[in-house]
Amino acid sequence: TGPRKCIVIPDVAEQPAYPLDVFSIPVHYEGDLESVLIPSGLIQARSEKLAEDIFSDYDGAMIHILCCLKGGAQFFSDLIMYLKRCYSRRTPTVPFTFDFIRVSSYKGMTSSGDVQVHATGMDFEQLKGKHVLLVEDIVDTGRTMAALIPELHKHQPATVRVCSLLQKRVPNSANFVVDYLGFQVPNHFVVGYCLDYEEYFRDMDHICIINKACLPKYDA
Ligand code: 5GP
Repeated sequence: TGPRKCIVIPDVAEQPAYPLDVFSIPVHYEGDLESVLIPSGLIQARSEKLAEDIFSDYDGAMIHILCCLKGGAQFFSDLIMYLKRCYSRRTPTVPFTFDFIRVSSYKGMTSSGDVQVHATGMDFEQLKGKHVLLVEDIVDTGRTMAALIPELHKHQPATVRVCSLLQKRVPNSANFVVDYLGFQVPNHFVVGYCLDYEEYFRDMDHICIINKACLPKYDA
């Protein structure tokens, strides 16, 4: 389908992100964040539109959604909530089915490039002939998607498309084209809305820029 419009979040030097004190921030993370990059309301509003775009593009064909754990779990959950609203209860076809996969390449704050795909109870053979829609939290260097998509194609799905909430503007990216993209974001390490640092911050609703000074306290 090629890239569409998305919301472009400018570099913070151009337009500073929201100060923490204008939003409700969990007290247990207050000192650990720099600023709010994307408030939860905007994430919801954008997800609703992505669901509408997906609904109209697939035109009634059944979608098999692959949620990339763990970071993509919250986005997946909200996206299917909006997707269900698009389908009327009188639609004669089943709108979508889903599975979960785990893809790991990150160690702390850096992408290791060594991408590992773990099926979580899923049989890859079942992808044959299906319209696979991968749901991701963030595309950074693009290496994860570049490694995962050929793996999926080995099992002969009808189509494979990617829906990612975020994509970073990074130098040396693999220029990966996301079919359904929520936001293009500047190159900072972000947490919240299920995106973590060492398993913390997943419980926060806004997407925030981490305060690097806090990192040692979360390192194992
Ligand atoms: P890529 O292979 O595109 O470089 O990295 C993609 C994966 O790295 C994402 O699925 C995510 O797990 C992790 N990642 C990349 N950037 C960030 C970030 O800013 N914050 C968090 N929490 N994870 C990130």
